[in-house]
Amino acid sequence: MKNKAVLEQRSLFQSSEEPERSASEGRKPEPLGLFDGIDGSESKKEVLTGPYEDKVLPAGASCEIYPREPGPENGWEGIWDLGELRERVIQCTRCGLRKGARGVVFGEGNPHARVMFVGEGPGATEDETGRPFVGRAGQLLDLMLKSSGFDRKDVFIANIVKCRPPDNRLPLPPEVEACLPHLMAQIRIIKPRIIVLLGALSSQTLVDPSLRVTRDRGKWFHKNGIDYLVTYHPAAVLRDEAHKKRPMWEDFQSLRKRLDELLRSKDVE
Ligand code: SF4
Repeated sequence: MKNKAVLEQRSLFQSSEEPERSASEGRKPEPLGLFDGIDGSESKKEVLTGPYEDKVLPAGASCEIYPREPGPENGWEGIWDLGELRERVIQCTRCGLRKGARGVVFGEGNPHARVMFVGEGPGATEDETGRPFVGRAGQLLDLMLKSSGFDRKDVFIANIVKCRPPDNRLPLPPEVEACLPHLMAQIRIIKPRIIVLLGALSSQTLVDPSLRVTRDRGKWFHKNGIDYLVTYHPAAVLRDEAHKKRPMWEDFQSLRKRLDELLRSKDVE
């Protein structure tokens, strides 16, 4: 039975085209390591600022889900390949953020992931490396994933905007509007069964503009065949570990439980 559960967990994250086993398969939650704290001497220099919670989008920025489904008017029609989409996004100059960024942070992970994580936008480390969530916040996200039995390469991690906003500010409404088709196209191609909303911007943009992370974290929402889980942005947790780390870990345990339920009910392929 145990082997069967491991195989089922494996099939949840891997397509038949991906034979490699995940290092996290069958892994038990590891809360102790998680609560030891994040201590990277280099990355400590990273400034963890940003509107990660309880900020409300300015008027006009509220975006009901799929407000800009990629179509003929914005040039994304017919793209069903993540690599092709990446090439298109790398060329993007649809908003002013591109001018101040080193490059586009497209997102990364399993193109067949059943779980997708959506943050706000790239920070300095992400802008330098071209990868999402690789600074201190990324280290915490990795630990949260590990503690709930996932491996980073099993999931897909992306942001609402693909270019770094200056000074870690909240992306402006036109920037969110301009970049959202990219995320929508990623969701359309990857077809995740669950999306974890990291912080206020993704929660308010993808589910409901009235959501508040401190009030609504841990809650599940269902829209258009996708389950959404609201939780803290890892950077917000790093600024208040005493009060936010354990609740975020509990949210990840809820994520694990929900996935296992879906797997048992055969509601995921
Ligand atoms: S943030 Fe998005 S819309 Fe703006 S330039 Fe970058 S990729 Fe294009």
